[in-house]
Amino acid sequence: QDANATFPPVLDANEQILLDSFDNTSISTWSYYYTHGDHIAGRNRTMAQWTADRWAEYGFSSRLDEYYVYLNYPVSHSLLLTYPNGSTFTPSLQEAILPEDETTGYPNRIPTFHGYSFSGNASAEYVYVGRGQQVDFNRLKALGVQLEGKIALAKYGGPFRGLKVKNAQEHGMIGAVIFSDPSDDGNITEAKGVVAYPNGPARNPTTVQRGSVQFLSIYPGDPTTPGYTSKEDSPRADKSNSVPHIPSLPISWVDAQPILEALNGFGTVGVEVNRTGWVGAIPGVNYSTGDGSGATLSLSNVMEDDITPIWDVIGIINGTNQDEVVLVGNHRDAWIVGGAADPNSGSAVLIELAKAFGKLSETGWKPTRTIVLCSWDAEEYGLVGSTEWVEEYIPWLKTAAVTYFNIDVAVSGPIPDIAATPDLHAISSSLMKKIVWPYRGTTNRTMYDVWTEEVGGEIGVLGSGSDYTSFLHRGIASIDMGAGGGPTDPIYHYHSNYDSYHWMATFGDPGFHTHKAIGQYLTLLLYHMVSDASLPLEPADYTSELKTYLAELNETIATANGTLELSELTSAIDVFKTSAEEFNTLRALAIDTNDTELLAVTNHKARDFSRGFTSQGGLPGREFFQNLIFAPGLDTGYAPVTLPGITESITFQNNFTLAQEFVGKTADAILVAAAILKT
Ligand code: GLU
Ligand code: CA
Ligand code: ZN
Ligand code: ZN
Repeated sequence: QDANATFPPVLDANEQILLDSFDNTSISTWSYYYTHGDHIAGRNRTMAQWTADRWAEYGFSSRLDEYYVYLNYPVSHSLLLTYPNGSTFTPSLQEAILPEDETTGYPNRIPTFHGYSFSGNASAEYVYVGRGQQVDFNRLKALGVQLEGKIALAKYGGPFRGLKVKNAQEHGMIGAVIFSDPSDDGNITEAKGVVAYPNGPARNPTTVQRGSVQFLSIYPGDPTTPGYTSKEDSPRADKSNSVPHIPSLPISWVDAQPILEALNGFGTVGVEVNRTGWVGAIPGVNYSTGDGSGATLSLSNVMEDDITPIWDVIGIINGTNQDEVVLVGNHRDAWIVGGAADPNSGSAVLIELAKAFGKLSETGWKPTRTIVLCSWDAEEYGLVGSTEWVEEYIPWLKTAAVTYFNIDVAVSGPIPDIAATPDLHAISSSLMKKIVWPYRGTTNRTMYDVWTEEVGGEIGVLGSGSDYTSFLHRGIASIDMGAGGGPTDPIYHYHSNYDSYHWMATFGDPGFHTHKAIGQYLTLLLYHMVSDASLPLEPADYTSELKTYLAELNETIATANGTLELSELTSAIDVFKTSAEEFNTLRALAIDTNDTELLAVTNHKARDFSRGFTSQGGLPGREFFQNLIFAPGLDTGYAPVTLPGITESITFQNNFTLAQEFVGKTADAILVAAAILKT
């Protein structure tokens, strides 16, 4: 790796061809195409076909895989605040149309609503519930706030929005309204004198975050086909465990202001509630719980339920070893006409990646392993396209999948951000040294330099919230990547009409240089994964991570004042360590002696060992989530929890018997992984 320490990075001939093929203006063209049409799940067939056609032009054999899934679409909605004196306020429930940003005024723009929300009315007093996590509700109960029969007013941020609605529902509340808050905008706020979009980089006050309210941490995919694929004639299961049965609406902070203001002085004042993330920054609001205010909300939400086709685009270049498959995926559906960051920064990058592999193929190059590109539909409703596809192809994937690379929001700012399974840590950080990364006007550092110097260079643990989930929970090595903003960067209007081409070209990534850099990075990862004689996966890197997770588990146990017998787990990690070291010795021998048969053996071990970390029965109460090493937190949805079966039996149920059972299951899983590696 010494050559990589130089700047500019030293590349071999194939790497050079791939990276030279990347062109920021052509990425801008792909982005422009994707950000000017209706993308909502099940209504984007034209975009699916266009994607397949581009990939085909660059040599990928491309097809559309169709599924019939449950989706719902907005018909009408309304919200009314009635003050105790009988006067009213009617929120607009709309994002302002901006003349500067043409797609904000497109006639086919999509209303502000929640995917998979319940059709119904609710009319009642309302209380402010903070971020809407279980701890927030527990705090409200401790304060004596009556929740039953009320409407929840929750702040966006923290847990996945569907879990806010789930928690409200479980406390007997009859509706939920979720608002965006400027306190989540760092230093770029109007309150700090920064001009708002479209004239400046701060948050437009009318921005609304659409999004799904599925109960993501229970199971993703079509709510009516848990664990099996959604074909036209598939039997349909009851969906009530994974979608709400109370109505909900998302609103902007300008719409939320009078609603919150009407609670000032009732119940407990926000600062005294003493919960992180409770108090926001809307002017004139003190974030009181509001019990006894006498103000009421009337909410109505009407959705149309459909079982409707969706389309995953699949593009393949067969490798010489067809039992080794590397997948790269991005979703294509968006809540809005634009979606310049989410998901089309990723979609644009994938076209440019296909083009680069087309260029390399023209030289006669062929991949050793099979490349599969995936453009998923219906991610936004709950990872539907990817989950149904994995459920269809699971026997093949379990046998042949080497890795899954996910790129969703490829660019919403300038800072590289990755999360990955431990076996991908080494390759994913070392390849950063080969990428020139543009950063705040400079171009003299690599991605690795920027990542380590600016944000400390840490690889995250995968939770959920994007399409890697179904792969990870079937034991397939995965990575999720993107570049995001820090506290001084322009506000990314997530799931809003302002996540537009105009925003991206003006504030998010003018010139599309960050798109180019992250695309080059993904391209090199894919190239090495499909062509290195020895698979660049490092099973041994699980050892230290497992030890870290074990140390964290010990803290959890101590905090809960309980005891668990962990020797089984400790010794399983030791066995894994030894197997991984033996694996490394064998692999080194295979490389040194150029023994292709032995290399095939070690490559297959590297491909397969992480299947061992999964268990058929899954986690307590959530069979879908089979990975016993990491999972989305039950009450976070996005943020991960490690050794989840054990940890959450303690943190959610205080059930040490169940936790002990999962010590055994987790130790067994680690032993299975070790046995697959064993030589
Ligand atoms: N990425 C989407 C979101 O965060 C969908 C996540 C999911 O349903 O898993 O809203
Ligand atoms: Ca399914
Ligand atoms: Zn996305
Ligand atoms: Zn999204």
